[in-house]
Amino acid sequence: KLSKRLSQILEQIPRGSRLADIGSDHALLPVAAVESGAAIKAIAGEVNPGPYDAAVKQVMESGMTEVISVRRGDGLDVLSAGEADVITIAGMGGSLIAAILDRGEDKLAGVNRLILQPNVGEDILRKWLYSHAWVLIEEFILEEDGKIYEVLVAEPAELTNLTNEQVYSERTIAIGVELNLDWLLRMGPWLTKTPNPVFHDKWKAEIEKMNYILQSLSRSDQDSAVGKANEIRSDIEFIQEVL
Ligand code: SAM
Repeated sequence: KLSKRLSQILEQIPRGSRLADIGSDHALLPVAAVESGAAIKAIAGEVNPGPYDAAVKQVMESGMTEVISVRRGDGLDVLSAGEADVITIAGMGGSLIAAILDRGEDKLAGVNRLILQPNVGEDILRKWLYSHAWVLIEEFILEEDGKIYEVLVAEPAELTNLTNEQVYSERTIAIGVELNLDWLLRMGPWLTKTPNPVFHDKWKAEIEKMNYILQSLSRSDQDSAVGKANEIRSDIEFIQEVL
C-alpha cells in the first residue's frame, strides 16, 4: 500500500498524464500512478545504482515495462523535452530539488505541472518556483510516522489564472498578523491561508529547534552570535504570533 505521503502526491496527478518521477527509488509512485490511471505512461529516473536496480525490479514485477521506462541519470537528464506533462520529485531536500529543476530547465518546456515534496528547505524551493514563473497553485502538509511532509503543486504562469503576485500578496491573516513575502515563502502562501494542526505542529517544532540554537549561541560572546540570536528571537516571536 502506498504511503500517505506518496498518495497525497498521486492525487495531484491529473488523470491520463505522462509522468516523470525523478529520484524514483523503488518506482512506487509511477507504478501506482499507472495502476490508478493517473498516468498513461511514466518514466522513473534514478541517478544511483541501488535505487535504479530497485526501480527496474519493481517495474518488471508489476508487469508494466511497456508503459514505465526506468532510466539512469542525473535529474532531468533522463528526459527529452516534451516527453512528460507532469514531473514529480519527492523525498529530497528543497535545495537539491531546486538545483535539479534549474539545471534541467530546458526540459520543463511542455510540462504543465510540478508536484514536489521537499523534506527540508521548502522556502528555497518556493523561491525557485516564484522566480522562474511557476505559480504555486496548491500546498499540502501532512504527518506520517511522526514526520511532517509538505507537498507543493505548481503550474507554469502562462497556464494558470493565478499569478504569483496574487498568491504571494502580502496579507493580514485572521489573527491580525501581517505576512510579508519572506514569511509567505517560509511558511507557504496556501498553508498559512488554512493552517491545519500539522502546520501548527511543524512550526512548534521549528521554535524548539530555534530555542536549541539560541542556547548554543548564548555560550558565545561574539558580536555575530548576538546579532544572530536577536534575529532568531524575533523570528520566534513572530511564529508564536502566527500560531
Ligand atoms: N521519490 C521517492 C520517494 O519520495 O519515496 C524516493 C525518495 S529517496 C529518499 C531520494 C532518491 O533520489 C534516492 O533514491 C536518490 O538516489 C535519488 N536522487 C538523488 N539525487 C538525484 C538526482 N540528482 N537525480 C536523480 N535521482 C536522484
